Amino acid sequence: MVGYLLARAGVPVIVLEKHADFFRDFRGDTIHPSTLELMYELGLLEEFLKQPHQEVRELRAVINGQTVPIADFTKLPTRCKFITFMPQWDFLNFLSMHAKRFPSFQLLMQHEVVDLTFDERRVTGVRVKTPRGELEIRADLIIGADGRHSIVQTRAGLERQDFGVPIDVVWMRISKKLDDPQQTFGFFQQGKLLVLLDRGDYWQCGFVIPKGDFDEIKACGLQQLQNDIVGFAGFLRDRVAELDDWAKIKLLTVQINRLRDWCCDGLLCIGDSAHAMSPAGGVGINLAIQDAVATANLLAGKLQIGPASLDDLRKVQARREWPTRIIQAMQVFIHRRVVTGRTSDRKASLPFVFRLLKWFPILRQIPARFIGIGPRPEHFHSPSAE
Ligand SMILES: Cc1cc2nc3c(=O)[nH]c(=O)nc-3n(C[C@H](O)[C@H](O)[C@H](O)COP(=O)(O)OP(=O)(O)OC[C@H]3O[C@@H](n4cnc5c(N)ncnc54)[C@H](O)[C@@H]3O)c2cc1C
Repeated sequence: MVGYLLARAGVPVIVLEKHADFFRDFRGDTIHPSTLELMYELGLLEEFLKQPHQEVRELRAVINGQTVPIADFTKLPTRCKFITFMPQWDFLNFLSMHAKRFPSFQLLMQHEVVDLTFDERRVTGVRVKTPRGELEIRADLIIGADGRHSIVQTRAGLERQDFGVPIDVVWMRISKKLDDPQQTFGFFQQGKLLVLLDRGDYWQCGFVIPKGDFDEIKACGLQQLQNDIVGFAGFLRDRVAELDDWAKIKLLTVQINRLRDWCCDGLLCIGDSAHAMSPAGGVGINLAIQDAVATANLLAGKLQIGPASLDDLRKVQARREWPTRIIQAMQVFIHRRVVTGRTSDRKASLPFVFRLLKWFPILRQIPARFIGIGPRPEHFHSPSAE
């Protein structure tokens, strides 16, 4: 997204992606009203909504066996009053296809950043591994948008604060049938959670487990995992046996962390590279996009004429840090108190806050606003060379 926006402003941009395509399953599918609003502002919304996707206007969850409406997006002050679910590879292919319209945009696939280059303390470029050997690319600014295992962040020696997360997620597919129930936010049971994402002909399932327990779960056998899944979503009973090999089940480790400084001279980290997000609330993609917009708004004008100063880069962190802090604090709370991956000893009744959401529909607008728009939504102010 930041590549798209800077190229749109006429700034020469090279986006380096280490894989040969964007086809990976682990990054979530949710595109929220805040991001859809940005697509509208860019004039891309109509075409975006023509891509295969699902629209969810109300999020429901099954909590200790009871279906509870949690968030109502239909009253949001945005053009799209729904969340879309779209596989992230489709979204990234869509964005990069549009970015390629700009003459100053280049996307280089199978280009893996393996190191940074420095001139004294200023970052001046990256060393890149490609199928044709290694090369060095120099730039006025390196933007580390390389996710939660960021090499850019590590090589720059930026200090990271980790907020312990007690969960991991096991990720797998189970086929879907026409008469299955509609997609919900998830199935919660006394501290445990099963998420089912509707991918047309199959369910992408995420099952929350206590951190570090995957080997123990494997030792208990596939039958036990299948039984656990059926315990959450009984309608999967007739096909859970599709999970007949551990190769079909992937472990995704969950982290929440944040850099103390998101930048140094010549380099800025954004998205998960600056602040790794957990899947809780499905907000990480949208927060990363908000960072991209703030970056373009604050830096495009400067980069049109030359390098950005360290003070300019710090302005991005100053703008984006507090929304990130608020969302991460919420995620940490959810993992420590609500979804821990372990069976809690609390009663299996409906917690009070969910009863309130059930009784008073107006309250469902609060989580809708937090999830759908979030604190400090960004809008485009960056110049356009179009
Ligand atoms: C299990 C799980 C489920 C999640 N579900 C959701 C969800 O439903 N909704 C949501 O909004 N968020 C979700 N999140 C959070 C979300 O995935 C992240 O917050 C979001 O993807 C961050 O975007 P990003 O662009 O910063 O990083 P990423 O999406 O991780 O993108 C980084 C990119 O950089 C590339 N890359 C990495 N290293 C290099 C390198 N050295 N050289 C070149 N390229 C490199 C990667 O291949 C990748 O394409 C989930 C997270 C987890 C762990």
